[in-house]
Amino acid sequence: MTSGSDVKKVLVVTGGGRGIGAAIARLAAQRGYAVCLSYLSKRDAAGEVVASIAAEGGVALSVQADVAVEADVVRLFKQVDSSLGRVTALVNNAGILEQQSRVEDMDAARISRVFATNVIGSFVCAREAVRRMSSRHGGVGGAIVNLSSRAARLGSPNEYVDYAASKGAIDTFTVGLAKEVAAEGIRVNAVSPGIIHTDIHASGGDPDRVERMKDAIPMKRGGTPEEVARAVLWLLSDEASYITGASIDVSGGR
Ligand code: NAP
Repeated sequence: MTSGSDVKKVLVVTGGGRGIGAAIARLAAQRGYAVCLSYLSKRDAAGEVVASIAAEGGVALSVQADVAVEADVVRLFKQVDSSLGRVTALVNNAGILEQQSRVEDMDAARISRVFATNVIGSFVCAREAVRRMSSRHGGVGGAIVNLSSRAARLGSPNEYVDYAASKGAIDTFTVGLAKEVAAEGIRVNAVSPGIIHTDIHASGGDPDRVERMKDAIPMKRGGTPEEVARAVLWLLSDEASYITGASIDVSGGR
């Protein structure tokens, strides 16, 4: 259960200050969630999202928390407990990639950074959410959506196989956790975006990647963060009440 009329809807979205996470935070607030968005370092961007939600009459707060640091994640969820109430929805959105590179040029430190944020961060955030949502722990249930990527199945050769592999791990994590908590009132699903207009491509050293790749997309364009957010909010909602362990591509075709 995620949105019964007697249950306050409280969403944690990691990396909610920019890109897809910011679109999820804004749409969730419009749909009646009290929203906690976390960020890593871009405090002003997160503050702008909170201000825009407040200007529309919504409830939001931002918390600095590195999802790759377990103590930060624990602090994030405690802050949500005290400021907004028990979490009912989690979106594991925070994710990174590094400079485009072949595998033979990747060192272990880089691969560890990618996995620490994309995989371990998602696990630890989900752990904190399950401890609050699960009927085993007196919770009222909830829903989790993990941001995977089409890269998980394409492999991203010559760009970032480490990132693609981390998203493959997210797909397996989604299936396993979904089965583990299905009888405890928690649904766990994934959204797999294709190529979306955000800053992430610049962080890989290829700011024009969407333009460069768009002709290979069946719909011949990149997606918007809002188009991803709508799929995420649908999976969180009671409209998706019998859906768990699933993955939705938001990629303009495949
Ligand atoms: P983005 O524009 O680069 O934004 C990333 C967000 O994650 C930022 O808010 C950033 O915080 C936050 N973040 C990064 N590392 C973090 C950490 N260690 N702890 C907490 N927050 C952290 O990325 P995006 O394109 O919106 O991507 C969002 C998700 O969608 C990611 O999981 C990504 O892999 C996935 N995805 C994106 C695409 C695409 O084409 N854009 C395609 C497939 C999948 P700061 O603002 O503080 O830096």
